[in-house]
Amino acid sequence: MPATPEALDRLPRLRLGKLPTPLDEAPRLTRLLGGPRLLVKRDDLTGLATGGNKTRKLEFLVADAQAAGCDALITAGGPQSNHCRQTAAAAAIAGMECHLVLGGDDQPPIGNSLLDLLLGATLHWTPKERRNARMDELAEELRTAGKRPRVIPVGGSTPLGAVGYVAAMFELVGQLAERDLRVDHLLLATSSGGTQAGVVLGARLAGFTGKVTAISIDQVADADSDEKFIEGVCGMANGAAELLESEIRLTTDDFATNYNYLGGGYGVVGDPEREAIRLFAQSEGLLLGPVYTGRAAGAMIDLVRRGAFGEDETVLFWHTGDESALHAYAAELA
Ligand SMILES: *Cc1c(COP(=O)(O)O)cnc(C)c1O
Repeated sequence: MPATPEALDRLPRLRLGKLPTPLDEAPRLTRLLGGPRLLVKRDDLTGLATGGNKTRKLEFLVADAQAAGCDALITAGGPQSNHCRQTAAAAAIAGMECHLVLGGDDQPPIGNSLLDLLLGATLHWTPKERRNARMDELAEELRTAGKRPRVIPVGGSTPLGAVGYVAAMFELVGQLAERDLRVDHLLLATSSGGTQAGVVLGARLAGFTGKVTAISIDQVADADSDEKFIEGVCGMANGAAELLESEIRLTTDDFATNYNYLGGGYGVVGDPEREAIRLFAQSEGLLLGPVYTGRAAGAMIDLVRRGAFGEDETVLFWHTGDESALHAYAAELA
């Protein structure tokens, strides 16, 4: 079991997740696809108001806000943001006020936006391109009202947030060592990039030898090109390395990102997502989500069928947890 860097153990951390998450085999899906051995890392089971990948980031982000004396959290996302849902739950645990800026027109509460309300968050609907400006306005309003707000960027994607996934890679490498397993390929969904940044840096630090490929599930708002996106992810990873007092610096060549599965765009459920959701559900009893994991799993299934992996290889799919959005997509999925 590799030891985590001392600097990581010294960072303030609010324990929000039920960790380690299980590492499961998917034998029926493996047989069905007639391909490589498939494993699933179950971050849908992090346990924070149904779970998901933002839990690991928020453990560090919320602890940092607490240490700075903040009493309110502001963040933003899409109408079915899993990040917003988990931030609302973290705020409830930390005893903080929570304001969520959701991009788009005011929608009736369903799926994650219903859970946001139940978790006590205040929702602020705004056009997608005004999300960051709206967060700044809210911060100003709250400060005027005597509060101490902390703005968490979209997706919790900052160097400190990425540290959560560095820690996750140490967890994974430990589990693989314990069970004498070797992973050749690791696949995950990427969007705001913090998870990818942490996983790729963590792979290097923890000695993970498989190839990490991130499946892009949208054209990212703040980056106007794929190169800019990966530069941002790389910068985040190197910022995390600095926080961890590591000498390691990554370059953009260290990041493999697949942009071939963007389909109809962010949050548009198409045939690959529908098929992936049904295959996982009906072979493994495992629920994927409509926006992120459905798309990334659809990519994995297509890559298996195209022979991208050897039959004797092992592929790990990182379930980042978004099944709580399924009901909001009932019309597209049923
Ligand atoms: C946010 C999210 C991702 C992408 O993570 P980033 O760090 O934003 O790239 C993947 N899967 C799910 C379920 C998510 O909610």
